[in-house]
Amino acid sequence: MRKPVKKGIIIAFGELFLKSEGVRKLFAERLVRNLYFFLKKGGAHFKIHFFRERIFIETNQTIKAKKIIKKVFGIAWFAENFWFSDINQLIRFVGGNYPDWIKKNETFAIRVKKDRKIIDKIAKNINRKVDLTKPDKELFIENRNNNWFLYFKKIKGAGGLPLGSSGKVLTLMSGGIDSPVAAFFTAKRGAENIWLHFHSFPLVSNASIEKVKELAKVFLEYQPHLKIYFIPFQKAQMEIKAKTPAKYRILLYRRLMFKIAQKIAEKENCQALVTGESLGQVSSQTLPNIKIIEEIVKIPVLRPLIGFDKEEIIKLAKKMGTFEISIKPQEDCCTLFVSKHQTAQGDLKKAKELEKKINTSRIIKEALRGVDWQF
Ligand code: ATP
Ligand code: MG
Repeated sequence: MRKPVKKGIIIAFGELFLKSEGVRKLFAERLVRNLYFFLKKGGAHFKIHFFRERIFIETNQTIKAKKIIKKVFGIAWFAENFWFSDINQLIRFVGGNYPDWIKKNETFAIRVKKDRKIIDKIAKNINRKVDLTKPDKELFIENRNNNWFLYFKKIKGAGGLPLGSSGKVLTLMSGGIDSPVAAFFTAKRGAENIWLHFHSFPLVSNASIEKVKELAKVFLEYQPHLKIYFIPFQKAQMEIKAKTPAKYRILLYRRLMFKIAQKIAEKENCQALVTGESLGQVSSQTLPNIKIIEEIVKIPVLRPLIGFDKEEIIKLAKKMGTFEISIKPQEDCCTLFVSKHQTAQGDLKKAKELEKKINTSRIIKEALRGVDWQF
């Protein structure tokens, strides 16, 4: 009995050729799991088949599936695809259907990796002109363990590595424009995100908290689940404001934030902190000040935006869909407590001296007591 032709989407992994066989298998399994999650969440009917270097999503809802797959990290490209259980089935199918794909006056080329002999057999049934250099239509054919795939147009995938394949990071999420973009880049390279947001509620409105929750909804289109820590920071800020000069306050806030973040990271098994800092963007992001802030923690700090201009970051935020949320007004918990005259050239000794005036361990304990988290 002849099996019916299966329709769906073929997926090619990104960068997995760089990995050993064992790692590749783990990464591929992770990708399959993520695809399964997002397709299910999107309400698609599908089946997933896994071949050594390809994944085939069997589905009739290709438009819906393509939209979802486009956002899944770890995919180099994907294409609408037909799947055949033998070559004769493929030859017959192409012979019967090519007028739907290649118009009368159009040229075509058949691209096959190996098995070059089959090209003639397939082309023989196509009554159109061949052009191997600049064809109007390309027919890609692949053979994987006697499963034959036919597809036409490759669509660029989200790239990167399957989410979850690079461990976990704790992203310091302010609700501004930069930190969501930083989170996106780490997720793209396979790092699962947990978020941490410092707020000054009820001293200010809960706008920043609401913004972070809204940003999370966008981020959840890329990462299956997201845990967020909300930490009250107003007491820390009030104490720092009362006891230290304006020039150093932002550095002291940041050091405290990092210290608390490190504690949460340890608890959550996160291997790095992530921030949205970009070199020289504001006075707290100069090299001397980055050094002072980072000195307080042992954990690595990743800054995916370090080399980006603000304009570039805004463009990325718009593409991701976070920009409109990020620009909603909020009383930033730092701007509220900070004067315009910050030092861009802080001195570590001085910062540490000032820090002695504040009861850091008590502040940290209190802040951690107020912690609230949610998925
Ligand atoms: P963003 O747009 O991400 O807020 P920014 O340009 O406003 O960045 P800063 O306010 O100097 O820069 O903050 C630098 C980084 O410190 C942020 O990208 C973020 O990672 C972290 N950060 C700042 N404020 C908070 C906060 N309230 N909660 C958590 N992280 C914060
Ligand atoms: Mg900010």
